[in-house]
Amino acid sequence: MTVLSDATLVSPVGVVPGGWVALQSGKIAAVGGPERALPRDAEVVDLGGRWLVPGFVDLHVHGGGGQSYCSGEPDAPAAIGALHRTHGTTSALASLATAPLDEMARAASALAPLVEAGALAGIHAEGPFLSPAHAGEQDPAAMIPPDVDALQTLIDACRGHLRVLTLAPELPGALELVKRAVDAGVLVAIGHTGAGYERTLAAIEAGATLATHLFHAQPGPQQREPGAVGALLEHPDVVVQLIADGIHVHDALLAMAFRLCGPERIALVTAAMAAAGSGDGQYQVGPRSVDVRGGVALIEGSGATAGSTLTQDIALRRAVDAGVPLIDAVTALSATPARAIGIADRVGALVPGLAADLLVLGADLEVEEVLVGGSFTMRA
Ligand SMILES: [Zn+2]
Repeated sequence: MTVLSDATLVSPVGVVPGGWVALQSGKIAAVGGPERALPRDAEVVDLGGRWLVPGFVDLHVHGGGGQSYCSGEPDAPAAIGALHRTHGTTSALASLATAPLDEMARAASALAPLVEAGALAGIHAEGPFLSPAHAGEQDPAAMIPPDVDALQTLIDACRGHLRVLTLAPELPGALELVKRAVDAGVLVAIGHTGAGYERTLAAIEAGATLATHLFHAQPGPQQREPGAVGALLEHPDVVVQLIADGIHVHDALLAMAFRLCGPERIALVTAAMAAAGSGDGQYQVGPRSVDVRGGVALIEGSGATAGSTLTQDIALRRAVDAGVPLIDAVTALSATPARAIGIADRVGALVPGLAADLLVLGADLEVEEVLVGGSFTMRA
């Protein structure tokens, strides 16, 4: 048994200075505060008061470290996972951008074995049933109307691991498709949409439970039309994704969303593309050239945002700087996304029985150590 001692825990019971976590067989065996004696006969690692938080869960990752899940490159998933792990992400969905259906299916079938091996928490299809009028970073030419056979093609290609489907509820047949997806065990996220308030509520009624990067690639609320944003913010059954990079959502809206929804309804995601963790330069994202300058990724020629270069450690610091309490930001990076995709019985909190996926953070909230299944992964 290993005990991480003198840690400042961010746990479901609150922030606990002088706390400890005991690890055994890859799992959290026990959690205690300063009043409770450390387990005997354990190897003790003194964290010197540093933060100990659960590993982050990212519901939306396209790539990182120069690679993309869509590329089909055999070494891409490992490189992407490794890049994001050093920034605190220990569980993630692999997100597929909208592309011709056969391309999405091919990429999905290459990822399915990685879900079975435990390297990915599942697959997220961002499209292809999206609104071309709200394409954002997605390719409008590859978007198609809701189609039951196309959905089935994706489900089959994912071999049962299509965890999330992002769609636009205003498209004809979308509500029926929401029901189909949910019946097949796929969670539905609303995004890349111009749907109004009523239509969005109808999609939630039909079973949609997530919002893909709220505020981005959708119109904001108007005085007589609260829109998708209004419905998604308000509904108690919806978890909303936010890209806390100051580009996809203003810090004031980020903090406002936390006050409105609470951390149990917010998942801080990266929606990271290949350039995350790779610095500025030229990147190829699907059919388009993307120019990254100062961490801002723009589609060449159009000036439109091409995706984010965010990592979850930066999202944590940004949220805290925007005024979100640290414990709430950590919840939105771990427990809430884990619950949203049904893996909270395995990861996402400092609770006995869950995987020992843990982060040691310094006083400045920089990631200093990452443990996956109880093993340190960053130590030289
Ligand atoms: Zn998107």
